Amino acid sequence: MPVKTKPIPEAVPGVRHPMEKYLRTDRLPHIWCAGCGLGSALSCFLYALDELGWDPNSVAVVSGIGCTGRIAGYVRLDSYHTTHGRAIPFATGLKLAKPDLHVVVFSGDGDLFAIGGNHFIHAARRNVDLTILCVNNFNYGMTGGQVGPTTPLEGLTTTTPYGNFEHPFNLVHLAASAGASYVARWTALDGRRLQRAMVEAMSKKGLTFVEILSPCPTNYGRRNKLGEGLDELRYYAQHALIRHGADPKEAEIVPGNDFLVGKFVDVEKPTYLEMYEAKVRELGGKR
Ligand code: SF4
Repeated sequence: MPVKTKPIPEAVPGVRHPMEKYLRTDRLPHIWCAGCGLGSALSCFLYALDELGWDPNSVAVVSGIGCTGRIAGYVRLDSYHTTHGRAIPFATGLKLAKPDLHVVVFSGDGDLFAIGGNHFIHAARRNVDLTILCVNNFNYGMTGGQVGPTTPLEGLTTTTPYGNFEHPFNLVHLAASAGASYVARWTALDGRRLQRAMVEAMSKKGLTFVEILSPCPTNYGRRNKLGEGLDELRYYAQHALIRHGADPKEAEIVPGNDFLVGKFVDVEKPTYLEMYEAKVRELGGKR
């Protein structure tokens, strides 16, 4: 559907942002806080899309609710902002109805792994042909900074003012265990590496998953005295260890400790649709 556009104010006179063509500029300025990593995550995605050179009409972005979920509203693609936790079943339906569409789910840790957790593991088990980009900021940022499924032990949030006592998910381990074909993790600081991972994930068939560790200075960072967004990026620079092919089980995130980033899984296996079509053929074409 055609959308209205308006030019983004020029940060540098006479210079346009090269990825402006993929943005619904009528929706800007965005709502994200200064120092948030979401702008970097979106920027990497747009550069990855540009690198792939796909017709924008062949790409759909689906999100659930939350700060990351706003991405669906900012991209000038067919995009769907679904209800909380339901991005993956919506995206699955879209992919099955339109197999030629490149379907990308771009959502947050709370949306994808709390209320949406069941959908994630089953989509990974089935190897549905989707790319899932998860921005992990360790809390529910949009709704005021509540504890989420990735909040580290002892993390301070509005609902754990004395420290979180629930064990968090290690998302790359969960994705790998559930059967994803491609699993990677980068931080919002790793611009080019993140872009590369997105290109790889989007061009590979099957369920591909990229976790993006992102500062949330307004909620998680402030409560846990992590400083501004830049300080969190400095922390990533000091503590992220690149180890491709590492056992995802070893990629737990414990505040104060080094943690692993890189590509953990990259395997070939039939997708859900391929398995379905093979079964239909086996049955003589009966559906
Ligand atoms: S609340 Fe956190 S995640 Fe949401 S926009 Fe602000 S800094 Fe980013």
